[in-house]
This record gives sequence, structure tokens and C-alpha cells, in this order.
Amino acid sequence: MQNPYQDAMHQLDKVSKVKNFGDDFIARLRIPDRDIRISIPVSMDDGTLKIFEGYRVEYNNTLGPYKGGIRYHPDTEINEVKALAFWMTLKCAVAGIPMGGGKGGITVDPHKLSKAELERLSRGWVKKLSDVLGPHKDVPAPDVNTTPEIMAWMADEYAKITGDKTRATFTGKPIHNGGSEGRGVATGLGGFYVFNILSKELNLPEKCKVAIQGFGNVGANAAEIFTQHGHIVIAVSDSKSAIYKESGLDLEKVEAHKKNTGALKDFEGAKNITNEELLELNCDVLIPAAFEDQITKDNADKIKAKVILELANGPTTPEADEILYQKNIPVIPDILANSGGVTVSYFEWEQNLKGEHWTEKQVFNKLKTILDYSSKKMLSKAREFKTSLRMGAFIVALERIKEKY
Ligand code: GLU
Repeated sequence: MQNPYQDAMHQLDKVSKVKNFGDDFIARLRIPDRDIRISIPVSMDDGTLKIFEGYRVEYNNTLGPYKGGIRYHPDTEINEVKALAFWMTLKCAVAGIPMGGGKGGITVDPHKLSKAELERLSRGWVKKLSDVLGPHKDVPAPDVNTTPEIMAWMADEYAKITGDKTRATFTGKPIHNGGSEGRGVATGLGGFYVFNILSKELNLPEKCKVAIQGFGNVGANAAEIFTQHGHIVIAVSDSKSAIYKESGLDLEKVEAHKKNTGALKDFEGAKNITNEELLELNCDVLIPAAFEDQITKDNADKIKAKVILELANGPTTPEADEILYQKNIPVIPDILANSGGVTVSYFEWEQNLKGEHWTEKQVFNKLKTILDYSSKKMLSKAREFKTSLRMGAFIVALERIKEKY
């Protein structure tokens, strides 16, 4: 596994060669404002005490309060959180929302905890960090393995400690706890809006064959949205396995199969393949929707997709990016492709602060307006500077941050 923070800095070096932003500006973006590590003691159900390691990286708040999710994963470590916080900074900037970048995490396999242990752990994270959080300071949200229910526990803990009643310190909450309509599907839907603007420019077929790595909130929603719009999802995967059916998967049945058996594998009528094989399938659109570091110098050359839509954060390494660029396979970059999630988080924050509740239609219309505009802006920057879409998106983001400096 490469160091994702190094990869992120490599991207920053690269963009400063495409457009000169000045050394001082780039130097400031190379380090986070604050990088906080905490220990979280949790009483386990069997009476023992376990200490977990947690993080919050507050990367940059030039455009607004630090904003970004909290990841629960056994591999989560500080360099990953730093990279993710850097990408959040650019993500909010490219979407044009008044938020800065941050990210948090806990090194834990949440599937090994009981619900009560998970709740104590989540509340413990807030207890250690309540001083630095707040609606106008730092606003966390869900990420890998963190759910609306976890956000509700966290918002409740924060309200207990500080007396803050706005509920605007955490986004991605359940609707009855101050959450926004549309937040659950926002990342997948946002990716689809971005894809739609780009697909016209990239001459993609009307009915695309789509392969999706990852079947969590983002991957599963994307699969459904692409299918609803007439595309064919030919493969999906989870952390254990992948399934492939040339004529298209029936997603409802796939969901039911996964619920019943706990896995995707052995789905009737589909072929079991590996996650690596999924990435190399003959398809129109490849959607990595799982983790960093999936498309690397080792497999980039074998990618056959016509376009890659990055719904995960950092799935393509800088070396792979270069190979794909040479092969003429456009990569619709994470910082714009998956920015629908944080954009609707921003709407949730605004609704909480104003005491409003917007309809799903209002939320989707606003989301589409923002992403259509930002997609076109990214495309025009990429063309102006004769560079990749990722560099185009970086230029849009950095111009916005620099203007505010
Ligand atoms: N974790 C999501 C992301 O990586 C959402 C962040 C948010 O809603 O603040 O973009």
C-alpha cells in the first residue's frame, strides 16, 4: 500500500507545474493546520477496558469550517486521514461550497464490536474532541463504516457536553434527528450528475456498461441510479468478492442475496470473479467506490473501461493516472465526482442553522445546479491548460482557495 498522503502531495506538485500558484501558497497547502491524535478508552461488554486510537485532521479552513467524514477501519492511520483531509479541502473548493477540509477516524474493525460498544466508542471520540468541534469550527460527517445512527449518537453527545442545540456540528444524521432529505443517496447521485455532463463531451454510448467496485452506501446507490437511467451494471464487488454478468445484474436480487448469505459471491446466473478482475473488465464506465490505491502502476495498463468515475477517495495513484492519461482513458476525479455527499452535508448544516427542512426535490435541484456548474468549470480548465480532468479540478479548487487567501 502506498502512502496516500505522499500521493496527495504528488498531485499538488503536479498541479503547480501546470499552473503557477506561487511557492508560498503551495507550501501552506502541504501541511494541515492541526493534526490531532487521541486515545479513546472503551469499557467492553465483558467488563474489560480497551483503548482505541482516534484522529481528527483539520487541514484548511480558508473557505469555511473544517468539513469531512469520520472513518472506522482497521487500516485507518494518520497518513490516510491527512490525505483524506487534504482532498476534502479541495473537494469543498471545487464544489464551490463555503467549507474547509478535515477528516477523522478510528483504527477499529467496527464489525467486531457490539452495538453498545460501538456507541460508547463513538461518544468517546466526541468527548475527546468536543473542544475543537462546532458548527463554525469543524463539522464531521459519515465516511467508510460510519452510519447516520453513529452521527446521531455523536450529535447527542456533543449537545450534552456543550449545550449546543442546533445539531449543525454533525451532518449525515437520520432525518428525524435533523438530517437532510437526500443525504443518503447524495454521493452516488452527485457522481451521476457529474458523469452526465461529462458523458456528452466524451462520446459515451447512451446505454453504458458499468462495473462498480464497492457495494457500500456509495457503490450500491450508484448502481441503482445508473440502472434507473438506462445503463447496465455488469459487475459489483464487496471486500470479499465480485460478481459479473455480461447482460446486467438484477440489483434487487443482488441486494436480497447479499442480505441472506452475507456475501455477493455465488449469485445465481453471475460469474464469481476477483476484485482485480472487476477493475480490468471490458466496460464503458468503471466506478471505484471503495478505497484508495486500487488502480496502480501494476494494473493501469490493463484497464479497458472508456472512462473512470472515482466515487471512492484516492482510488487511482499518481503513476496510474499518468498511464491512463497516455492511454486516453479520462478519469473523472474523486474531488468532484464524489462531492455530492459533502454538498448535501453542507445543505444539512445550513438547514440546521436556519431551522429549516427542505424537500428532497429542493435538495436534488440545488445539488444538480452546483455539480453541473462545477463539472463544466473543471472541463473548461482542463481544456484551457491541456491537462487531465483531475488537474482541471485541482486548478478550479486552488483558484477558489487562493482568491480567498
Ligand atoms: N465522507 C464523505 C466524503 O469523503 C462526506 C463528507 C461530508 O459529508 O462532510 O466526501
